[in-house]
Amino acid sequence: MDEMCLEGIAEGVKACTRCDLGAGRHKTVPGEGPCDAEIMLVGEAPGAEEDLSGRPFVGRAGKVLDRALAQAGLGRSKIFITSVIKCRPLGNRKPKAGEIDECLPILQAQIDAIKPEAIGLMGNVATKAILGLEGVTGLHGRVFQDRYVVTYHPAAVLRRRELQEDLVSDLKKLKELSLRRK
Ligand code: URA
Repeated sequence: MDEMCLEGIAEGVKACTRCDLGAGRHKTVPGEGPCDAEIMLVGEAPGAEEDLSGRPFVGRAGKVLDRALAQAGLGRSKIFITSVIKCRPLGNRKPKAGEIDECLPILQAQIDAIKPEAIGLMGNVATKAILGLEGVTGLHGRVFQDRYVVTYHPAAVLRRRELQEDLVSDLKKLKELSLRRK
């Protein structure tokens, strides 16, 4: 796959000043994973630890995600992990519609470059941004456009531990979809 292309996208993110989030960030968090990843996971926006490290899902939500991936039989190193928004919204507020509009082309470029077989949309922000649909509770575990699987954001599992089981079973569906499409 087009390694240079992904690096080019990440360089573009580093220099991005398209919205106000650039002013408050320590590091951009473009995403990480292999260029030929068959599975992609999309979250909402970096938190404090991601902002400091420049890496996606390394904080508390990341620990939940790592555990769920292991339970689903998926290796994190084979997955491209990113978020809709590449810079931390200060105070961990929800991203604004304008920020999502500005950032979405970057995610689209990553999807076009990697061409993953299956893409997990974790939470409402990713689901609305990509599919235009709302309400993860009623949508999770379902496949859309033969490529996307909606699931809970790992941060939701921190608030409601019982959702871990659903997160794991949705990730298993994502894995099955990626194998089926190959
Ligand atoms: N939550 C997200 O949506 N993305 C991250 O990278 C970390 C936490």
